[in-house]
This record gives sequence, C-alpha cells and structure tokens, in this order.
Amino acid sequence: MGATLERDIRERFRRSGYTLTSQRKAVLEALGESRGHPSAEDVYLLVKQKNPRVALGTVYQALGVLEEIGVIEAKHWSESPTRYDLNVGPHLDIRCLRCGEVSEVPGVHFENLEDSIRAATPYEVTRATVVVEGLCPACHAEG
Ligand SMILES: [Zn+2]
Repeated sequence: MGATLERDIRERFRRSGYTLTSQRKAVLEALGESRGHPSAEDVYLLVKQKNPRVALGTVYQALGVLEEIGVIEAKHWSESPTRYDLNVGPHLDIRCLRCGEVSEVPGVHFENLEDSIRAATPYEVTRATVVVEGLCPACHAEG
C-alpha cells in the first residue's frame, strides 16, 4: 500500500469518527495484496492466514465501514458475490461472464458521469456506478 494511499485512508478515518482498528487494517492489507477484486469470502480467507481467529462477520463489518467512508468501492456484477476494490478513483472494471475474471479497462474516462446525471435529474445523486460485462479473450476464443 502506497504512502499517499495510507495517508488518505488515515484522513478518512479521522474525519469519519471511526477507528482504524487492527481488524480493519488487516482487511485493507488483504485488499491491497490481492490481485483483482476479491469477494468478502476471499478477503476473509486472506485475513485468516495471518489472523486465524478472525470471524467472517468481522470481515463483513469492516468492509461495510471501509465502503461507508469511501476507502473501498463495492462492485456488483450479475451472478457474482459483491466484490471490493481499493481503487476508488474513476475507473471501469470489466467482468467475464464465463470465467469470472475481472480486469480494469484503461483509457475510458467518465469522471463527469455524476455531474452529467445531476444535470439531467432533480435527484440528489449520491452514487453512480457502471457495470461492464463480457467475455474475456480466452472464453471468447472457446466460442
Ligand atoms: Zn473468461
């Protein structure tokens, strides 16, 4: 985890009033170490390697707090458990419908998505997500 990211995380905790507990830190470290976009279950198994006494419920609770204060982003694809992403900057992730691989889509910009939606609706927009699905090259080749 980079120093800038760690400073940002500490700042978000400070402002939220939540405490950066060792459990929450362990969950963040697991997210930072895992490639791709782990589910709560994946995070639990990673945290468990270092802290065998951790409970799945604790991991869910920590993920909820981290999402609430904007340190991680929850992604919801069809036919998949919720996945978590430490990269909360504007970026797109694509998920293969067949093998489940998730990868980032570089070069697509939609920083203004929320602004555009705000301009188009009288709603107070609090969250806007884009879900992208398809077939990865390997699965596409299989036909
Ligand atoms: Zn695939």
